[in-house]
Amino acid sequence: MPQTTATAVPAVKISARGASRLHSGHVWVYRSDLVSEDGVAIGSVVAVKDQRGKFLGTALYSSSSQIALRLIAHEAVADFSALLRERIRKAIAYRETVVENTNAYRVVFSEADFLPGLIVDRYNDIVSVQILTQAMDPEGVRQTLIAELAEHLRPFSIVERVEQRARQLENLPARSSGLLQGEKTSTIFTMNGVQFHCDALEGQKTGAFLDQRENYAAAAQYAHGDALDVFCYQGGFALHLAPRCARVMGVDSSLPALEIADRNAALNAQLLDGRLSDRKEIEWIEANAFDLLKDYAASGHRYDTIVLDPPAFAKTKRDLDSAMRGYKELNLRALKMLRPGGILVTCSCSYHVSQPDFLQMLAEAAADARRTLRLIEVRGQAKDHPMLLSVPETAYLKCVISFVSS
Ligand code: SAH
Repeated sequence: MPQTTATAVPAVKISARGASRLHSGHVWVYRSDLVSEDGVAIGSVVAVKDQRGKFLGTALYSSSSQIALRLIAHEAVADFSALLRERIRKAIAYRETVVENTNAYRVVFSEADFLPGLIVDRYNDIVSVQILTQAMDPEGVRQTLIAELAEHLRPFSIVERVEQRARQLENLPARSSGLLQGEKTSTIFTMNGVQFHCDALEGQKTGAFLDQRENYAAAAQYAHGDALDVFCYQGGFALHLAPRCARVMGVDSSLPALEIADRNAALNAQLLDGRLSDRKEIEWIEANAFDLLKDYAASGHRYDTIVLDPPAFAKTKRDLDSAMRGYKELNLRALKMLRPGGILVTCSCSYHVSQPDFLQMLAEAAADARRTLRLIEVRGQAKDHPMLLSVPETAYLKCVISFVSS
């Protein structure tokens, strides 16, 4: 595993532009800002220097990513392994102060926890790890991370979820998802009093959309009447809305996700029992959301609560225009179907869509639909997904809850 001392670490020189980015508080240096990287091994811990040789900090180096350096300390790092252990303990301690009413939450959020390339999610008694950079991948580093997580979280098992694309970008050999410790791969977790099945080796992300946890509770506070959860996945919003609503329908294009949503509804039967008036079940519909909203809007369906939580339409800056058109179309159709006094919960998880852009899109959709919106809450990701003020890329989720006043 990389061991570093102030003198033994390889040095990487960066341009004035790269140095000024670090001075502003960002932690990334792009490949185009590297001046010299001779003889630096993949995934090394390196000393970062400006062109004159002035020491700027310690970073993790990637030989292939466009993000060539990720700063981990302003000082020299004598013992990388000790630093990792300390950062994990601090990440866990931070959650103890900001996370409540759940046994599923993000324990480590990469740069936002000063552990670039490491994501750790906890689902009750299972811990799920994702490794996204060269420097976090060596066996010795993995052992350190796993030992520290096991000691402090005491899970039944630890699984690794592999993002093949991230490994390709980092030029790392292919690997498959699997158990790193223990044997348990499925569990039930509870957030805001609602229970969910988790198969830690299946599903999107590491299994659930933990970043929406606080937004589920916020949305439930205002939900009423007939509710539609569009892009419902395994029912995160729908299950939270159900106790407050007369009828709930969840829509997604993924049948496997809907099957789990239905199992989740059964798990919460007691919570839902007697609350949904006409039918005691949430209705799950497999459909393309764009087509379904178009059909339903045209055929006069009306709702009191609509949630829109689409996948990231803008994965890169280049997709921004078409992404904004997609968001606008969805929001326009939803607004046309909301009754006066209705609630729109609309989300975007694309980092490239800024909060002002998103609000602007919503204003335009409201104007086109001839509806007046009153903003109730403009929200972001749950607090276990911290945002670094100086690293805007760590803030990506938008969740706007509004009241349709006319
Ligand atoms: N609201 C969910 C997360 C949604 S993630 C939660 O809180 O857990 C986005 C979802 O959109 C995924 O489940 C994906 O299957 C679904 N999806 C993607 N494209 C779709 C489309 N065109 N129509 C319907 N669903 C779609």
